[in-house]
Order: sequence, then structure tokens, then C-alpha cells
Amino acid sequence: MRIQIEPTDALQNYVADMSLREPDLLRELREETSRMPLHLMQISPEQGQFLNLLVRAVGAKRAIEVGVFTGYSLVMTALALPPGGTVVGCDVSEEWSAVALDYCIRAGVADRVDMRIGDARDTLAALLEQEGPGTYDFVFIDADKENYEAYYEAALELLRPGGLVVVDNVLWHGAVIDDNAQDSETRAVRAFNLKLHHDKRIDLSLIPFADGLTFALKR
Ligand code: SAH
Ligand code: CA
Repeated sequence: MRIQIEPTDALQNYVADMSLREPDLLRELREETSRMPLHLMQISPEQGQFLNLLVRAVGAKRAIEVGVFTGYSLVMTALALPPGGTVVGCDVSEEWSAVALDYCIRAGVADRVDMRIGDARDTLAALLEQEGPGTYDFVFIDADKENYEAYYEAALELLRPGGLVVVDNVLWHGAVIDDNAQDSETRAVRAFNLKLHHDKRIDLSLIPFADGLTFALKR
């Protein structure tokens, strides 16, 4: 497969102009986050809107998000859930989770959000214990890259057959194809991508959208 259109700034602006429908509250969250040092971790509004559509398209009722930060993707996911739906948010940061929860309240979706602070590996293990295997429809993985494989393995256990895992940053700003990039994050993302390519438990698609998004549909 070749990427056929050069994603120039002008073309990306056109795409945003023709598709983006960012709610005012989410723009406010983005502006608040932009004043924080690590604001570049936040997903783009285009990605947020896509995530929202995806959750609706698969009809997910029970979702998990690994890596919440200030909540952009969490709010977009929660807004896509049907009444009675739920999303478990996993993050280690009390401070960022507080911002996320504040926006969940303001978006009117706090009753659908179960925010759990702690290492997501522990949270996912606890969910497996409490809820059992095959009890979720959708998992978004967007936390520390070194643990992607652990999150993915837990996600596959937690998902029902036909459940979807979406993984962000799988192109890691292009470093995945740079032989000089040998830091632990880049190596982890590379190993993760290779593992999924050979994984017979899933149907797979890697889309060069934003920083690279992988879709793994549990068989
Ligand atoms: N999805 C977010 C961005 C996530 S940034 C958005 O849309 O804005 C990555 C997040 O992963 C950070 O908030 C960080 O605190 C969290 N994180 C890092 N290591 C973690 C771990 N071991 N368990 C849970 N969360 C972790
Ligand atoms: Ca990300």
C-alpha cells in the first residue's frame, strides 16, 4: 500500500474545515490543556471525533481507556456511549484525572465514567478479576509505550470476540523506521507492531492517521 496524497498543511486544514465538529467544551479542554507542559500528548480533535464515531459504529456499551491525561479522548468516548454505557478510565496521575473528571461532569457523562487511578496493568488485572473475561466491547490504548504489550494482552482477555482494540502512536513520530532510534519507547512500539502483525487472535489494520493508529479486532 502506498500513501497516495501528500498530507500538506493546506490539505490537512481543508480536511479539518470539511469535517471537524469540535464541541465548545472540548475546545475549552484543549485550550486548558495547551497551557500544560505535556500538552502534546493530547489526541487531536480529528482523532477525538474519529474515536467518537468508532465507538458508535461498533455499538460499544462497555469501554476501557488506558491513558486518560486531561480527558479529551475519555470525554469523546463517553459521549458516544448509549444510556447505561460505561467507560473505565485508567491513569496514574491524580492531577490530570481531576481535570478529566471535571470535564466529564461538565459534559454530562460523569455517570458513565469509572475513573481508576493507578498503574493500568493493575487496574486491568482488577477488572478481569471483578468483571471476568469477555466483558468489554472496546479498548483504547494510549499510555506508556513500554507497557503497550501488557495492555494489549489484558485487553484481549477483557474483550468479547468481535471487540475492538485501538492503539495510538504506533508510528511513534516516524521513529519506528529510524535505525538510530534505539530508546526503550521506540523499541517497545516496534516490537508491539511486529507482534500484532503475526498475531492470529485478531484481524488487523494499521492506519497512518495522526501518529499511527492500529485496529485489532478480536476473533
Ligand atoms: N488519551 C489522552 C492522552 C494520554 S497521554 C488524551 O486524549 O489526551 C498518556 C497518559 O498515560 C498520561 O496521562 C499518563 O499519566 C498515563 N500513564 C503513563 N503510564 C501509565 C501507567 N502505567 N498506567 C496508567 N496510565 C499511565
Ligand atoms: Ca497518544
